[in-house]
Amino acid sequence: MTVYRLAAPAKINLFLQIIGDRLEGNGFHELVMVMQAVTLADHIELVPRLDDDIYIDCAHPLVPCDPSNLAYRAAKLLQKQVGDRGGVDIYIEKRIPVGAGLAGGSTNAAAVLVGLDLLWDLGLTQAELQSLAAQLGSDVPFCLSGGTALALGRGDELTPLISLEGISVVLAKYRSLAVSTPWAYQTYRQQFQANYAQTPGEQEQKRLQGGSPELLRTIAQHDVKNLSQYLKNDLENVVLRAYPQVQNLRQTFTELGALGTMMSGSGPTVFALVENDLKAEELCQAMAEKFQDTDLELWPCKFCSQGIHLVDFPSR
Ligand code: ATP
Repeated sequence: MTVYRLAAPAKINLFLQIIGDRLEGNGFHELVMVMQAVTLADHIELVPRLDDDIYIDCAHPLVPCDPSNLAYRAAKLLQKQVGDRGGVDIYIEKRIPVGAGLAGGSTNAAAVLVGLDLLWDLGLTQAELQSLAAQLGSDVPFCLSGGTALALGRGDELTPLISLEGISVVLAKYRSLAVSTPWAYQTYRQQFQANYAQTPGEQEQKRLQGGSPELLRTIAQHDVKNLSQYLKNDLENVVLRAYPQVQNLRQTFTELGALGTMMSGSGPTVFALVENDLKAEELCQAMAEKFQDTDLELWPCKFCSQGIHLVDFPSR
């Protein structure tokens, strides 16, 4: 029996600009983002079943082991698409914090698509996988391919960028704090809708005026110091106000010498860019000493160029 084990990396947003509402009126926002995969990753194990059932196992108390799990929804979607290939047991070892703005659920769904393509020997093309991913959520297509990418539309129109592999980053999150992504976007809409671009022309103009040309240039130059100056996240305008402790993390990272710091996605995870691995370890230690709070979790990690990939971790 073949068992597939996959690593499903988290993502951070180096840039997140909200242009307006999507003009087709589906409730989504029109975005300009630069997304980056990091080495913090969940482990997913897929074991074939003889019946048609899909079974989810995850020990994390905040992850549902039922059909609402994004990994379950990915398997169900693929089953519907390709007909009877059997069922699957999906074991999720959660390392990415939940409700953190790190696309934990999305990356699990992407791993199930990649793993079942192999397990059921479907031979899906990258374009077919991307199209299935987009049906599951805005971040799922990026999670499939990972690396560094410009993401437009609702986040699923991807252009790969030059790899930033190896840049050191520290992630910080309060264990007990989660932010709902729908809440963050709805609150942003309530507060800033008056500034939204209303027509395709206005949206294009806003994209050109704002956008991220400086960030894209520094990425092309692999210049982490300069890149740190152009980090942006519009959702900070609502999340930092509602959660001053997140603002405090960000400020402390800066005081302790981070090159640049920003909230990821809808938060509440804050990341800090540093020069190298040693600085990352030192920054983690300095943050832990400063806050003296067991609720605060810190992860030194790196930018990675991979999306979902097979790994050889030991069996359960
Ligand atoms: P994003 O950055 O894509 O908005 P997030 O990192 O903020 O996502 P997730 O960790 O994906 O948030 O979790 C959001 C919600 O989704 C949680 O309330 C959780 O219960 C639910 N969920 C469903 N499936 C999963 C999964 N496989 N892993 C984690 N959470 C899941």
